[in-house]
Amino acid sequence: MLDGKVAVVTGGTRGIGFATVKKFLENGAKVFLLGSKKESVDNAINKLKSINDDYEVDGDCPNLCDLTSVEKTFNHIIKKYGKIDILVNNAGMSSMDKIYNYKEDDFRKIMDLNVNAVFNCSRAVVCYMKENGGGVILNTSSMVSIYGQPSGCGYPASKFAVNGLTKSLARELGKDNIRVNAVAPGVTLTDMMKDVPDSVIEPIIKGIPLGRIGTPEDIANAFLFLASDMASYITGVILSVDGAARS
Ligand code: NAD
Repeated sequence: MLDGKVAVVTGGTRGIGFATVKKFLENGAKVFLLGSKKESVDNAINKLKSINDDYEVDGDCPNLCDLTSVEKTFNHIIKKYGKIDILVNNAGMSSMDKIYNYKEDDFRKIMDLNVNAVFNCSRAVVCYMKENGGGVILNTSSMVSIYGQPSGCGYPASKFAVNGLTKSLARELGKDNIRVNAVAPGVTLTDMMKDVPDSVIEPIIKGIPLGRIGTPEDIANAFLFLASDMASYITGVILSVDGAARS
């Protein structure tokens, strides 16, 4: 579904990002993954190469919260592959802090990675996509961007902003044949969920009509569809992939 395409996936070293990188490679894309540490980037690349040595996968660890650092990496990707067809803004962090204890700096950090980094990567890629006749930007939002959540207010606030960027950029960039969509996962089994207590997760499962938590592959499948030409008339959409969870 992605033969000949070049994709960049942020937060591609594990969880949803890693599953997305793997899915894109299985479908013929060349993928450049971005992570927070060189070691985790190298580990992810080695793991993928051990699955299939023919996969064209590389990576780096720029500071996503700094536009200059992001631009440097994207220039390198363009020199290496000549184009970027797909950008998946997936890196993100969560927090469950109550407002009474929420530190100003923690609020800033979550907005920096979950929102500013999405802006920076989108800002860095759009000129290349326009020059190349189009492209696809996909963002990882969250179920909480629709309902909020009863703690950790910075996280839903950041994902509401991701939806705002998605819908606005879709409208701004449609004329340049750049589609912009988001996937809003429900609770998904990744490292991010490690710190969420069972007392929070169990009631969530009870509220999921499909009766289970999502897997990273569930989300990667949605990204594959939206990245592919099968979604060529879809832009500005926040696609819920949450088993119809409503909590
Ligand atoms: P994860 O913790 O398993 O992976 C996070 C990824 O982000 C890692 O690859 C990590 O290297 C990268 N990352 C973290 N900090 C970074 C930084 N400062 N710079 C660059 N990269 C950084 O998380 P996940 O569950 O796979 O989450 C991926 C995305 O999915 C996030 O945007 C998250 O908000 C969203 N999401 C997750 C769930 C869930 O239940 N797991 C639900 C809804 C949305």
